[in-house]
Amino acid sequence: MPLEMRSNPAFFASRRAVWLQWAVVGIFALSWWRGETLLADLTRQGENIADAALTARKAATAVQASLGLATVEVIVGANDTLERIFRRLQLSLTDLATLRALPEVRKQLDRLRPGELITFNVQNMKLMGFERKLSPSETLQVTREAKGFDTQVIVNPLEREVLAVEGVIDTSLFNATAAAGLDDRVALRIADIFQWDIDFVLEVQPGDRFRVVYERLSQDGEYLGAGEVLAAEFINGGKTYRAVRHRLASGIEGYYTPEGKSLRKAFIRAPLDFTRVSSRFNLFRVHPVLNSIRAHRGVDYAAPIGTPVKASGAGRVSFVGQKGGYGNVIEIEHANRVRTLYGHLSRFAGGLRAGERIEQGRVIGYVGMTGLATGPHLHYEYIVNGTHRDPQKVVLPEQPALSGAALADFRLAARPLLTQLDSATNPKTAAGPTVARSGGRL
Ligand SMILES: [Zn+2]
Repeated sequence: MPLEMRSNPAFFASRRAVWLQWAVVGIFALSWWRGETLLADLTRQGENIADAALTARKAATAVQASLGLATVEVIVGANDTLERIFRRLQLSLTDLATLRALPEVRKQLDRLRPGELITFNVQNMKLMGFERKLSPSETLQVTREAKGFDTQVIVNPLEREVLAVEGVIDTSLFNATAAAGLDDRVALRIADIFQWDIDFVLEVQPGDRFRVVYERLSQDGEYLGAGEVLAAEFINGGKTYRAVRHRLASGIEGYYTPEGKSLRKAFIRAPLDFTRVSSRFNLFRVHPVLNSIRAHRGVDYAAPIGTPVKASGAGRVSFVGQKGGYGNVIEIEHANRVRTLYGHLSRFAGGLRAGERIEQGRVIGYVGMTGLATGPHLHYEYIVNGTHRDPQKVVLPEQPALSGAALADFRLAARPLLTQLDSATNPKTAAGPTVARSGGRL
């Protein structure tokens, strides 16, 4: 009795139920941007379906199949446009034109993000609607109605909780953050915040400690991930570094010491992009024996071939090419007669040329073992006025500190965050994380 299903109130009570109904039908094959075949997963089941609705849905599946209803999940490819997707799905381009004429749709569909998911509802090759997540908290929903397409943006706000957590490093920063119940993202952020002061590849040692005040994001009570780190502390070899995130009146955000000095400096300590290395690799592992590494004029960073190498400071590329035992090497001239050198590279970043000006942090090449190298590593030298210096120890000039009203603003905003930082606990060993306030400001 298929038609009776249509009047089942438990199932058709809401638009949401209708949406769920779409999601259970069959399997649809479609080719996507690389000509690969994507089997759309059509078993996207609703989260809170009552038993009655579930029963109704099972029965409805047969109805839908006979009506030719289907949900098609499309993952947006690198050069995809809505038109290309419509062509692939053999949907009406007239419908597309109609949709584009709707200002809210035009605005929201201008740019698709590669890798994102768009869910189409199709009936007998006719577009009945689609859904696209605009942001973690907003979903665009388009539905075909009798008079045309109806659009709405469904808002499902994120819940922010601000927590203060601390941990001690035993084997690696990642292990320490995990042991404190934190995402890898927080570990990467800590390394990012202190990259001008601490060499997270070589200098982190057992007994080093960290504290963070960070946002914990969830939606409908379900944990989504770590948000922004609002304040952080890292004790490296007994020396304490602290940072507070702050937005200047100009809108620029950055991290400052409690005294209002920017953490940014002319050089980062470790010129390796460990944030792009598999998080479980040993780059964050504690290195017990450092002395042998410093035996020659430079610092060696053991890392897998292909690990991105970054310019440690802004400057002008003075050499790109091969040079004796260095193999593939890059040299950069910086201000104040500082020169840096990056050896044994497997290859250079595309288009890098001698004479080119580059910014700090720009990827210039990739770790390799060219020249006289016994294993894959980056050989890094830091030379001042022709003399080799230890890049991890050299004192770097600081940027001007905040002053006047900007400093007063900063102190006011920083105080509660620093207090919260001081109250950090390890949720795995203490009673629980400190929840000091809800609703982050970022
Ligand atoms: Zn070396």
